[in-house]
Amino acid sequence: LLLITVTRLISTVGKTSSRKTVSSRELVSVSRDDTVFRNLREDAEALEGVSRDYGNMVRDVPLAVFNPTSVQDIGRLIKLSYDGSVPFKVAARGQGHSTRGQAMAREGVVVDMAGFRERGNGVGIRVSDVDPNNGYYVDVGGEQLWIDVLHATLKHGLAPMSWTDYLYLTVGGTLSNAGISGQTFRYGPQISTVRQMDVITGKGEFVTCSPQTNSELFHAALGGLGQFGIITRARIALAPAPERVKWVRLLYNDFSAFTKDQEQLILMGGRKQNIALDYLEGLLLMHQGPINNWRSSFFPLADHARIISLVTKHSVLYCLEVAKYYDGQNENNVDKELQVLLQGLSYIPGFYYEKDVSYVEFLNRVRSGELKLQSQGLWDVPHPWLNLFIPKSQIKDFDSGVFKNIILKRNITTGPVLVYPMNRHKWDNRMSASIPDEDIFYTVGFLHSSGFDNWKAYDAQNKEILQFCNDSGIKVKQYLPHYRTQEDWTNHFGPKWRTFVERKHQFDPRMILSPGQRIFNN
Ligand code: FAD
Repeated sequence: LLLITVTRLISTVGKTSSRKTVSSRELVSVSRDDTVFRNLREDAEALEGVSRDYGNMVRDVPLAVFNPTSVQDIGRLIKLSYDGSVPFKVAARGQGHSTRGQAMAREGVVVDMAGFRERGNGVGIRVSDVDPNNGYYVDVGGEQLWIDVLHATLKHGLAPMSWTDYLYLTVGGTLSNAGISGQTFRYGPQISTVRQMDVITGKGEFVTCSPQTNSELFHAALGGLGQFGIITRARIALAPAPERVKWVRLLYNDFSAFTKDQEQLILMGGRKQNIALDYLEGLLLMHQGPINNWRSSFFPLADHARIISLVTKHSVLYCLEVAKYYDGQNENNVDKELQVLLQGLSYIPGFYYEKDVSYVEFLNRVRSGELKLQSQGLWDVPHPWLNLFIPKSQIKDFDSGVFKNIILKRNITTGPVLVYPMNRHKWDNRMSASIPDEDIFYTVGFLHSSGFDNWKAYDAQNKEILQFCNDSGIKVKQYLPHYRTQEDWTNHFGPKWRTFVERKHQFDPRMILSPGQRIFNN
């Protein structure tokens, strides 16, 4: 009876959502009576904390923040919405490291997954016993951070194979996108390493899914932008963890030579697994910015002057970044293997840089830059990022039209610009993530930081890039996408759009989940 009363009240909230203050009070006024609403907060501090994200360009205030004390609580909240005559929106918020409000829920309820983790209320991180038939794995709560997954698995001499550049992101947040980095060409994105999940659907149902059981939900949720359910547990494959990493950067002044070498190296991951690289990325060095940046401080100080003078001469340099893992006693072997892998590459002679670091130092390389920016108050500035996937056949046109004609000419780019290829066959096309239809495609990331007063200039540049690609037929897809119209979403998913919509009707028919993505409610 109590639940019915609550449900009716919630229906009122939905109907009167334009009367925000009243609705908000109504929503919380029932909190004294019900287990779900006991965990709702609507005070200014709680609401403000989830009304912004890393992008710092959007502000959407929810009605309430939900602090679940168990996985079942999350299910109850969604079920309450689903059963109401007019449902309210629900968004899981991991770290809020999206840039365009994707984890927000205007006039809905934000589930605070970070608080859930901090209170230790989820499934935590459980490394499996040795399972010789199925390999090693770890069961991880969707609210957990990848850095904690790393430390927990290393205690068993194991680690996941696929990472993001930055590890203070939640498992649920990256699996809702894809989770990419320099390991993707070889091990696939993070979504390719998931074996099983627990997901609470938009009907409030608790479903365990895998490629064999409830496979439709499994594939829907991976790369599903939070549209089909809240991931409360993911089972991630593990491999024996290496101890150390040879980390190499090579400089190029010719884009074609740079991409040719990148493509050759990622193909070696397929043909000669035993001597493949473990990581490959690339970045632009431009006269606008310092040659070391928050993503990693790499080049020795003594070489800065000669690198800068080369950048000045060419306007832009292309930096190939690779890594090969090894165990302490195998240093001689890894050096020989690196020599084989890198022989014949066309980088500028003499511009070869190498570091030897621990595995943790390598994977967590972005953290020190973050802490430095935080101490200077520069981490929480606007981030008008643009991340794209580009078919290999069009990367040259992208270079001349975008890097050379927009980025270098406008001269406003601040922050790293990443460029690296990956192999399509390492992605599972049944999953929701949308990628270009070519065997090799590139990711390009414009990871801008701007001032509070000028982020719109970066946004305008991003729009210009997208417009250029559209006009010249370059078939880009956004990664961590942000589109405004249904037509854009239809184009983004292409042949997958129909399935995406069908799955939405199946698993979240009342369009409750992750409204900040603006796919079904823009
Ligand atoms: P949030 O921003 O909180 O949420 C993202 C979306 O997922 C929202 O729609 C939310 O509702 C949904 N969601 C959150 N948790 C769950 C859950 N448990 N179940 C279902 N849906 C959920 N990405 C890469 O791939 N590679 C990188 O190298 C990389 N580097 C980054 C570096 C920095 C500094 C930053 C800020 C971001 C980076 N990202 C990278 C992007 C990052 O993967 C995405 O922004 C991701 O969404 C962030 O995770 P989050 O935990 O903050 O998710």
